[in-house]
Amino acid sequence: MADPITPSINLSLCNHCTLCAVLCPEDALTMREQGPVFNIPLTCTYCLECEGLCPTGAIRAPLTVTWGAQSESINLS
Ligand code: SF4
Ligand code: SF4
Repeated sequence: MADPITPSINLSLCNHCTLCAVLCPEDALTMREQGPVFNIPLTCTYCLECEGLCPTGAIRAPLTVTWGAQSESINLS
């Protein structure tokens, strides 16, 4: 089975504000000592909300647009 698709979190940029874990509509994130981790990755709907909430840019959720034989990763935030 393929790994669930989730945003990436750069814990070295995290200031432990807890916004992402508290406001995730799916409760996919939980705060640990090192920062937020995906406790239930499969529940993440990739809604991009956490990326917009994070005040330090620690969360990145790139989107891939594919047309024809070409694909390109873009970030719309
Ligand atoms: S992308 Fe949405 S569902 Fe997934 S962890 Fe972030 S806020 Fe939660
Ligand atoms: S919103 Fe950003 S800075 Fe705040 S806990 Fe989540 S990853 Fe860390």
